[in-house]
Amino acid sequence: MPDYEVLICGLGPVGQLMALLLGDLGVRTLAIDRAPDIYPLPRAAVIDDEVLRIFQSVGADAAVLEHAQVQPRASIMTARGVPVDVLAATAGSLGHPPLVSIHQPTMERALLDALAQRSTVDVQRGTELDGFDQRGTHVDALLRPAGGGRATPVTARYLVACDGAGSAVRASLGIPFTGSTAPERWIVVDAQVDRALRKVPHPYFVGEASRPSVTLPMSPGRHRWEWMVHPGEDPTPLLEPHALDAAIAPWLDGERADIERAVVYTFHTRTARRWRAGRVLLAGDAAHLMPPFAGQGFSSGARDAANLAWKLHSVLAGAPQQLLDTYETERRAHVRAMQRTANLMGSLVQATDTATVQARDAILHRFNGTVVQRWVTSHVKPLPSYHAGAFATRPARRSGRRTVGTLFPQTGRLDDELGRGWSAVAIDELAAAKLTAAGLVVHDPGPEAAWLTRRGLTWALLRPDRFVFAAGGGHDVGPGLAAWRALQPARPSVRAMS
Ligand SMILES: Cc1cc2nc3c(=O)[nH]c(=O)nc-3n(C[C@H](O)[C@H](O)[C@H](O)COP(=O)(O)OP(=O)(O)OC[C@H]3O[C@@H](n4cnc5c(N)ncnc54)[C@H](O)[C@@H]3O)c2cc1C
Repeated sequence: MPDYEVLICGLGPVGQLMALLLGDLGVRTLAIDRAPDIYPLPRAAVIDDEVLRIFQSVGADAAVLEHAQVQPRASIMTARGVPVDVLAATAGSLGHPPLVSIHQPTMERALLDALAQRSTVDVQRGTELDGFDQRGTHVDALLRPAGGGRATPVTARYLVACDGAGSAVRASLGIPFTGSTAPERWIVVDAQVDRALRKVPHPYFVGEASRPSVTLPMSPGRHRWEWMVHPGEDPTPLLEPHALDAAIAPWLDGERADIERAVVYTFHTRTARRWRAGRVLLAGDAAHLMPPFAGQGFSSGARDAANLAWKLHSVLAGAPQQLLDTYETERRAHVRAMQRTANLMGSLVQATDTATVQARDAILHRFNGTVVQRWVTSHVKPLPSYHAGAFATRPARRSGRRTVGTLFPQTGRLDDELGRGWSAVAIDELAAAKLTAAGLVVHDPGPEAAWLTRRGLTWALLRPDRFVFAAGGGHDVGPGLAAWRALQPARPSVRAMS
């Protein structure tokens, strides 16, 4: 018998979340990282409501929110200095605020503290994955102390590579990481501030033709600025302390800002050609990269973890192996959409030629203050949905018509009542009786009943990640249950901890 069911290589935020989710499902997991502690520099500045809902599922949302700031809006500032909202919403349909700024190391600390409570997860820091071999039933891995020393063999039924953009696991499998690298680079500056900046109440994308920039409040007491470095420009003079002070000065109104670091980043849009090779799966930055303009890099990795964890748990307990292939089917298309959104935001902000800037601003000025803007800014994030994957029926082609394949809404804290694992909601006694007879716990959807009735549905069967697996009226429970049974383990499941 292998030492572990899952070996996670890399304990960045995606590995941490994967370990928490697997731990909660009772999966014996070893999570390793070569670094002795959390990467100390902040990278991600914002997360979204879907990620907070995933944090909620592992009981970590409150701890993360304690050191976060809800952002009520985000705006593009035109070259004339007019802020035009592109997002304005404090409540979405997932039970959490759609835009929240964080300090990544503090968020990671909250996740690691939660992980320390999981008895089924062993954590080894300062340990590097030195190599691995796939066998018929498991993966043989060699672990070595990061500073050098004797290697230790470990076996696991699956290896999940959360080892970041430079993934050695991806490289050793020979999986190409295709895409592009942006010609522009960006200087990222983080500062500790004595109070919130009056001139920057929420994130601004500053579309100044001479030097596009971004500025936003991070977690309380922290602020970020980002400036574009033109293609071919030497960033060295821009990083001089007096240049940094001069660049942030116009944004200050008596507040004190102590710069913690200034780093030049290059942004990539890349995706691994395959996300699964036998018993090895890629997740997070190891599988995909995107520029940070939509704040979706880690958020996409968090979705990977939520999508993959329950599938691994099911397959480990005897469900068909093909279930694991639906991980890439579902996540790849969504990641591509996020990469497109990030690059669209990037091209709006990074415009530098006069004609493009004028055309962009003319559209933004016309859009500003309209009913269309009010609608767009509060609907900019529709319910996430997948067009194909592990569902009872193929999701509708047009996302606006989708029920199956859509993340079930949560206006309050419905998920806390649903618990972990598969669950069902019903507003019809006949459907509820049939679902109960099949062994499912059926819940009253509360305010979400309206979502069902608007679509002519009386019940929905929800996957452990809260996507709608099957839904219908009282008479079509049977086919939904048959599809669900086909995914259930052939032998008693690894027990979920309640
Ligand atoms: C400037 C910037 C701004 C960003 N802004 C946002 C944002 O606003 N919102 C957002 O969602 N995302 C943002 N991101 C992206 C986000 O930071 C990353 O997507 C996220 O950190 C990736 O997490 P990960 O766990 O996949 O990888 P990483 O955080 O890179 O973790 C990988 C881990 O694997 C370990 N490792 C690697 N190889 C081995 C090995 N062989 N053995 C053992 N351990 C190994 C490493 O030590 C590391 O700890 C931003 C990124 C940057 C650079």
